[in-house]
Formats: sequence, C-alpha cells, structure tokens
Amino acid sequence: MNSVSTTYEAVIGLEIHVQLNTATKLFCDCPNQPGDAPNRNTCPICLWLPGVFPRLSRVAVEKAVLACLSVNCTIAEESAFDQKVYYYPDLPKGYQLSQHHKPLAVNGWIDIPEENAKNGALRRLRIHHIHLEEDVARLVHETEGGKPVSLVDFNRAGAPLIEVVTEPDMRNPYEAMEFLKILRTHLRYTGSTECSMEKGTMRADANISIRKPGSGEMNTKVEVKNMNSIRHVGDAIGYEIQRQAESLNRGEPIVLHTRLWDPDKQVTTAMREKFAGPCVPDPSVPAIQMDQQWLEAIQQNLPEMPPHKASRFVETFGLTAADAQLISQERDTAEFFEAAVSQNLPPAKVSNWIISHLLPGLRDHQLSLSDTPLTPARFSGLLSLLATEKINAAAAREILLQMLTKDAEPEILMKTAGLEQVSDDDALGDLVDKIIADHPSDAADFKNGNPKVVGFLMGLAMKASKGKANPKRMKEILTEKLNALQQTSE
Ligand SMILES: [Zn+2]
Repeated sequence: MNSVSTTYEAVIGLEIHVQLNTATKLFCDCPNQPGDAPNRNTCPICLWLPGVFPRLSRVAVEKAVLACLSVNCTIAEESAFDQKVYYYPDLPKGYQLSQHHKPLAVNGWIDIPEENAKNGALRRLRIHHIHLEEDVARLVHETEGGKPVSLVDFNRAGAPLIEVVTEPDMRNPYEAMEFLKILRTHLRYTGSTECSMEKGTMRADANISIRKPGSGEMNTKVEVKNMNSIRHVGDAIGYEIQRQAESLNRGEPIVLHTRLWDPDKQVTTAMREKFAGPCVPDPSVPAIQMDQQWLEAIQQNLPEMPPHKASRFVETFGLTAADAQLISQERDTAEFFEAAVSQNLPPAKVSNWIISHLLPGLRDHQLSLSDTPLTPARFSGLLSLLATEKINAAAAREILLQMLTKDAEPEILMKTAGLEQVSDDDALGDLVDKIIADHPSDAADFKNGNPKVVGFLMGLAMKASKGKANPKRMKEILTEKLNALQQTSE
C-alpha cells in the first residue's frame, strides 16, 4: 500500500445523496415515509401516471436551501428541474426529475482537520454544487412458490433528495471519510435530514482516478456507487487506488466504468450500466425563483454551526479543543451541554460526564438523546448528588444509565436502588475493623512495609459496602487504622 501511494496520487470526488425529512414528498402530498407498508403512500403524481402535473413542495425547497447554507453554498437566484432520461423498473415514467443545468446551490466548502495535524491545521474541500431531485421506487427481489419475483414499492418514489457533488479535492481515504463525517454533522444540525448511512438516508458514490504525484493530470476515473457506511467508502477507495495502480503497472489502461463495493469480500466489482439518456429541461415544474426576502427568511433558521460552537465552548467554558469538538458533533448534545452548564455546574465536569459516560451509554443502548427521558436538569441533579458526596462515582454512573430509560429524578433512582453513599465514620470504621480482623496476615504485611496492601483491603472494604462507601473517607479510615495497628504492636 505504501509503495503504491508514493508512486501514485489519488484524485477523489464524492457524490452524496441525502434524503430530506419532509412530511410529504417532493411533488405531491403523499407522506414521505418509505418504510410504511408497500405502496401505501402513493397517488397518481408519484405513481407517475400520464396526464398529472407535479406540484413542487415549498417546505422541501426550504429544507434543501438550509442544508446548502450549512455547507457554505451560494443559493442560485433561479434553479430549475431537468428530465434525466433513463428507463428502469424503478422509474417507469422513463425520466427522473433532477436539476442538471441549473442546480439549487453552488460553490460550497467544508474544512476538515489535516491528516495527523498536531497544530489544528485545516484543509478546505470544495463542493461544486448541490441539487434537488426525486427518489425512484424501490425494487424488492423475492421468491414466490420457488420462483424469483421482482416487486416494486412506490412509497419512496418522489421522495425529496439533495445530491451533494464535490470537486475532486480529496487525495486519500482519510479525507473522503472525514468529509463525509463533517458533512453529516453539518446537515444534521439544520434539522433538514437524519443523514444516517446506517438507515439509508445518506448514500455515497466515489469517483476515483490516480496520477503521478503533483502532475495535475485528470485521468480516467472509476465510479464506485451506493456505499452505505463511511468505513466502506474509505475501504473501497483504498482498494480502488491499489487496483488501478496494479493495472497501470501491468500496462493496462483504466477504463471508465462503474463498480460496486462488496464489504464481505473487501473488493469492488464491475456492475452493469443502466442506459443513460439525455438530460433535458422539464416543462412541467416552474423554475425556483429565490428572492432575497425568501432567502433571508430561511437563513434565519440556520443554527450556529459546529465549528463556531466548538470555538465558543473553548472560549466561554474553557473546554479543550478536542472536548469542545466532541460535544458539538451533534446539535442535541451541544444544546444539552449548554443547558446543563447553565445550572451552575463546572463546565469541564459536565463535558467530562457527557463524553465519558453519557455518550457511550447512548451508543451501547443504541439511543439518541431525544429518545430518552433524560433532561439537562436531571443530569445536573445527578452531578450535584455526586458533588455533594451523596453518591459516589460508581453509583452516579449506574443512575445515569438508568436515567436513559427510566422517567424519574436521580434522587428517586438513588433511593430505590439504595445507592446513597455511606460517609458516616462509625459505619465505615466498623466495616474496616471487620476487614482487618478477617485478614490478619495482610495487616501484618502492611506492618512489614508493604503499602500495596492498602489497595487490596480497600477493594474488599468497598465490596463489603456494596460499592456505596465514600471511597475517599474509607481510604482515610483504613490507612489510619492500619497505622494505629502498627504503632500498638511496636
Ligand atoms: Zn403521491
């Protein structure tokens, strides 16, 4: 791999399809819910019956514009739909309404951290344009009575998509993967899309060619289509660079074609091309005229974007750059953090508990914050219980996990599970006495100058308290008692 990357440089551009989360489809009022029972959400418009006229959804345009603004695009004063002509069973009307000649937005960009950069250096990757288009129907291949059948589900037909087309600015798998991660973060912030590759609301194609480093040539590219995970995109690009380099080294030219990534075999394979016809202006949908007033109204809904949020968290709350970036990755996490901090808690403590305990807990339970009954007030209530030593850190972690699914205040959960911290000296002293009495040889070891025994006996004492003891106080009492023991026997 290393030898290849020093001999050749990769030139990579991405095309990313993103589903907008509008209530209705792009050109009709059918629900935009592709996962419903097959063909439930259809009407003459999205079944593409002859003689009906599409009606463009204003909400879809506004959500798309907001998404474009979040990645620094310029919105076109006039954009328009074309008919992208091809025939396939998932597109029986024979053309897809898409924007080819006059896209919605142009000239965007995203900054990514440079690979292995230690000084926070950024690299700007450009977006050529973003256009709106309708999704096609879904083909379902099944067997019926032992025979293969193909079924068509029109629930997805006419669902609103945006396609983000980058400049060929990326040079390696890292840059492509980083671009996708940051694009996803920005688009999610707008609330226009869930942008989930796992759920299929974001799909990526990569155009890959290779050349001698620094040559500036644009050689024949290969397109790898329809990847549904960021890791697959990185793996497919890495594989393609290697495959093309080996071809060239054998003296075989690269041929323009389309491939698919097979994540099981870790290879790309050539796919059959669909017939691609012309792209002609569509006469049925009026052009989108974006006047200044409309644009400004949409712009007002653009939230503070992650890079700004992260630098504000560093300046205002003194977070480290790395923590601030993690906290701002999802808008709900960032807003949760700010709301929790506003309850007079130390920001570093809040961010530490979010990063180290809350986010991993959500991941383990496959939940997002909004799926849980956890509120910033409850979260800060929990951290207050910890700060005032009513519970210890182990108990706080346990209560936090419970709060992801249980609709209850932290005090209630603490009492129900009996997790109040024991700080009472008499109770802790009794526990320690019993442990020392049960382990006379370890106590003797301490006397003989082995300090490691303290850790061992602490473990036993914490266990005996069922994890509820105040560990700081327990350690003080244990050390006191061991020292006293040493003195009496001397
Ligand atoms: Zn419809």
